[in-house]
Amino acid sequence: MLEKLLTSEKAYIVLVNTTALYDKAIELGYQDLALVTGNRLSPAEVEKLAALQRFVLLYFDCPEGNPQLDQIHRQLKDADIKCDTNNLASLLDFSLRADTIPASEKMFTLEELENYLANVGYIPSTDYTNRCGNCQEYMGKEDKYCKYCGTARGKGAFKPYYNQIHVVYGPPISARHKCKKCGHLWVENTLGGDEPSYCPNCGSKNIRVVSSERFDRSRSQSDYFEMDDLFEED
Ligand SMILES: [Zn+2]
Ligand SMILES: [Zn+2]
Repeated sequence: MLEKLLTSEKAYIVLVNTTALYDKAIELGYQDLALVTGNRLSPAEVEKLAALQRFVLLYFDCPEGNPQLDQIHRQLKDADIKCDTNNLASLLDFSLRADTIPASEKMFTLEELENYLANVGYIPSTDYTNRCGNCQEYMGKEDKYCKYCGTARGKGAFKPYYNQIHVVYGPPISARHKCKKCGHLWVENTLGGDEPSYCPNCGSKNIRVVSSERFDRSRSQSDYFEMDDLFEED
């Protein structure tokens, strides 16, 4: 059964399985919440959740392999509802005083919850700290321009985006780059296909790769530039 359903304008909804968690969630300011009782949702309840078009987080207080959690998780997946579980019991295992802390005391604050959901790409993010406002690629702390699309820091449409988890196939290449316009030098650790096209310092497209080699994790940026005087040319 789905009880005490609350929804606002968020991109997610949290399902909990105890009234203690429900009450704690309310106290923490959750506005997109429902309490699950029993081992199954009715078909009408599953339909209702599907119609909301939200990401569903099952935030349960239960041991691993709990039949209630497993069953409901399967029901949602079968209905193609995007969902995941956050098993408080497994979080509690990491605490030395696990058995003495009530599950509700371990509940994410609203900010932690939303950061978690955005970081794993479950809900869209608008966090543009060190992101390009146009293409949403990462920007180095010192970069004034996006290396991938040339947009200046702080410019762009800043549309909500889903965080992408990049799967990396090795081996990466360390490529030394030089901007022909402003002289900026930097090392790019890349895989084929994600090479920069613009200078992160001045936004010029007039950049070139000076040399490239296998990525060596023990080297710092400055090591590359001290190795030889390649950069002294032209
Ligand atoms: Zn960009
Ligand atoms: Zn430049």
